[in-house]
Amino acid sequence: MLETFVIVGAGLAGAKAAETLREESFDGRIVMIGAEQERPYERPPLSKDYLRGDAERETIYVQAESFHADHAIELRVGRTAVELDLGQREVVLDDGEWLRYDRLLIATGAEPRRLAIAGSDLDGVLYLRGVADSDALRERLDHGGSLVVVGGGWIGCEVAASARTRGLDVTVIDPQAVPLERVLGREMGSVYRDIHLDHGIEMRSGTKVEAFEGAGAVERVRTSDGGVIDCDFVVVGVGVRPRVELADQAGISIGDGILADEQLQTSIAGVYVAGDVAAARHPHYGERIRVEHWANALEQGPVAARNMLGRGEAFDRLPYFFSDQYDVGMEYTGHAPAWDRVVVRGDPATREFIAFWIAGDRVVAGMCVNVWDMMSPIERLIRERVAVDDHRLADPDISLDALVPAEQEATT
Ligand SMILES: Cc1cc2nc3c(=O)[nH]c(=O)nc-3n(C[C@H](O)[C@H](O)[C@H](O)COP(=O)(O)OP(=O)(O)OC[C@H]3O[C@@H](n4cnc5c(N)ncnc54)[C@H](O)[C@@H]3O)c2cc1C
Repeated sequence: MLETFVIVGAGLAGAKAAETLREESFDGRIVMIGAEQERPYERPPLSKDYLRGDAERETIYVQAESFHADHAIELRVGRTAVELDLGQREVVLDDGEWLRYDRLLIATGAEPRRLAIAGSDLDGVLYLRGVADSDALRERLDHGGSLVVVGGGWIGCEVAASARTRGLDVTVIDPQAVPLERVLGREMGSVYRDIHLDHGIEMRSGTKVEAFEGAGAVERVRTSDGGVIDCDFVVVGVGVRPRVELADQAGISIGDGILADEQLQTSIAGVYVAGDVAAARHPHYGERIRVEHWANALEQGPVAARNMLGRGEAFDRLPYFFSDQYDVGMEYTGHAPAWDRVVVRGDPATREFIAFWIAGDRVVAGMCVNVWDMMSPIERLIRERVAVDDHRLADPDISLDALVPAEQEATT
C-alpha cells in the first residue's frame, strides 16, 4: 500500500518539500494544503519589484502552473487544516474532509503581528504578508500621496523604499533610535537610516504609534512623543509570529515556534516542520533557532522531505538573508543575538562595504552591502570559528579567503 505524506502550508518551505519528495523518487501520495487561494509563491518580491509594479505576477511563483499536476502533487488551495489527530494520524480540513497521513510536514509559516491600538481597524491601515496584501498596497501606491510606515524593520524599510521610489511622501515611525537596530545594531542601522534620509524619507525614531485617527479611513497618526502625522494610508510592519496553533492544540511541543530536533522532526515521531514556523536545534549553535527568512524556507523544506523518507540529515545551514532597498542590495549570514563590536571593510559612506559582527575574536555574522560573491569566505570564518584580527579583517588588500587558513581546525 502506497504511503501518504501530507504537507500543511503551501508556502516556499512546503513547495520545496513536495518537489524534493518527487525528486527523491517518493512514489506515494503527496497532499499539500494551502490556506491561500494561490499556488506557492515567493514573498520577497511583494515588498520590492512586484510591489512597485516592476515584475509580472507570473514571476513570483515557485513552480510552473502545471507542476503539481505533472508531479502528481495534490494541491488543495483555499483550504485550511483546522485540527490534527496525532493518535489517528489525521489532518482535518475546514470543509470537514480528513486526511490520513503516514508522515506529516507542518510548514504554516508566520503572520504579521497586529497592533491593538485606537484606530487599528480604520480603512487604510494595511499589513503586508501575502500577494493580495501587496496588490492592495500597490493600488495605493498608484494613487500616490503620503504613507506612514510603522516599524523600521526589513518589511518597513523595503516598503518605505518602494513607496519613495514610486514618488510618495513617506514617514517611518520606529521606537528604536535607528532602523534595523534590533538585528544590525546602532552603527549599521545608522547606515540604513542615512540611505533612507538621502532618498527623502522622514524618520521619526525613538517614538511609538499611539493611535490612528480618521473618519472611517485613517487620516493621521499620533505618536507617543506628541507628534501628529497626516497621511493617506499606513503600512504596519512590526514583526511576525509563527503560526503554531495547529501543532499546539494537538500537543506538539511549542516554544518560539514549533520545536524540532536537528533533523526537523517535532516532539512527535513522523511529524516534521520547516520554514518560518520551525524552531529547530542547530548543530553549529547547539541551541534552537527560528529563522524568518527566504533561504531558510528554501533549504529546510528539502531537508525535512528527505528526513520524511528516513535519511537522517541534520539541517546545518547558517542563517542567510538578503534585502534590496533603492540601489542598495545586501546579503547577511550568521546569527548574532549579541556581539562585542562591528568591524568594517570599506567605507559605509560609499554604500559598498562588508561589516563583520565580532564576539571575542570570532566572527558571528557578516553583511555585504553592494559587494557580491563574498558570502562563502564569510560563512567559513563563522562556521570554522576562525580567530580573527580586526585590522586584517578590515584591510581590503587581504583577501577573506586568506583569513581562513587551510589547516585551520574547528575549535569546538
Ligand atoms: C513582503 C515580504 C518580503 C520578504 N522579503 C524577504 C527578503 O528580502 N529576504 C528574505 O530572506 N526573506 C524575506 N521574506 C521572508 C520570507 O518570505 C519568509 O521567510 C518565507 O516566506 C517563509 O516561508 P514559509 O513557507 O516558511 O512560510 P509562509 O511563506 O508564511 O507560508 C506558509 C503558508 O502556510 C499557509 N498556512 C498557514 N496555516 C495553515 C493551515 N492551518 N492550513 C493550510 N495552510 C496554512 C499560509 O497561508 C501560507 O501560505 C519576506 C517576507 C515578506 C512577507
